Amino acid sequence: RYFDQDTGFLDAFLGGGSQPVQAVDGVSLALYENDSIGIIGESGCGKTTLLQTLARLQEQTDGELRFEGNPISEFSKKEMKAFRRQVQIIFQDPFNSFDPKLTVRESLLEPLRIHGMDDRDRRVREALERAELNPPEKYLERRPTQLSGGELQRVSIARALVLEPKVILADEPVSMLDVSTQASILNLLSDLTAELDVALLYISHDLSTVSYVCDRIDVMYLGRVVESAPTHDLLDSPKHPYTQALVNAIPIPDPHDDRERTTIDGTPGNPVGIGEGCRFRDRCPERMDICERTPRNVSVDAENHRVACHLYYDHEEEQRRGEAIAE
Ligand code: SF4
Repeated sequence: RYFDQDTGFLDAFLGGGSQPVQAVDGVSLALYENDSIGIIGESGCGKTTLLQTLARLQEQTDGELRFEGNPISEFSKKEMKAFRRQVQIIFQDPFNSFDPKLTVRESLLEPLRIHGMDDRDRRVREALERAELNPPEKYLERRPTQLSGGELQRVSIARALVLEPKVILADEPVSMLDVSTQASILNLLSDLTAELDVALLYISHDLSTVSYVCDRIDVMYLGRVVESAPTHDLLDSPKHPYTQALVNAIPIPDPHDDRERTTIDGTPGNPVGIGEGCRFRDRCPERMDICERTPRNVSVDAENHRVACHLYYDHEEEQRRGEAIAE
């Protein structure tokens, strides 16, 4: 079990504003060996903040993050350095994540040097081969501007793999690539998690790419996880109205597909000073009076399929139980 997080919330400040934003609120996440978990949601839902918190690029203001059972906040310098080797990130824009002056070889040697690992040339070659950049000699002396977007994203994957990490955090890794390149990178990520002992946390706004790579998906809306389920359950039987709309919007390459498309009206809204209640209620077609109260996270169908929506919570039953206890 690598990550085990119970985040309270993160404070950030919008440009010029002074009110705190709950970018991530009450998110619980556990990532195990060989897991592939997708975090899906619109821009501003908090998924990037969550990833940056897991990577320790920013600190959470509440809650706890543990790695292999140990609280990260208590790590010594040496332990933090080991953590940074074991948790690697693949960024959305490969062109912004490399020094344009460095060759591929230099970019991959740098982390090996920082972490004092030996046999560096062999490790660089093997990582490029794993990322399907063959033969490695063809790429070693090239600079980022001499590579296509897809090739450079493969170099990002090689750079992540060269340190033999336990966890890879992927931040929209294919969203800036053309469609044919997207498919090959998704296949590569899927193969890597199956073949290497690596756990993957993949964040994206695109449910179809996440469902291709991940065994399990968490759906986020304005800082909260509103539904969490194994990928096939989420696609076959989405529960939360927001997830239902996302699943319904996935294009199906079938000329006879005559499903009626539902669209979600409105925008996610402003997270500044957000208060009590379901955060999706202004856009929800199923909204009820009780939705002014924050819905509890409950299991539906199976213990590992959870949803935070009043449609799946028996309020009358809770009231009856409460009265019985009072009597
Ligand atoms: Fe819609 Fe209410 Fe469920 Fe929120 S809690 S998704 S407003 S039905």
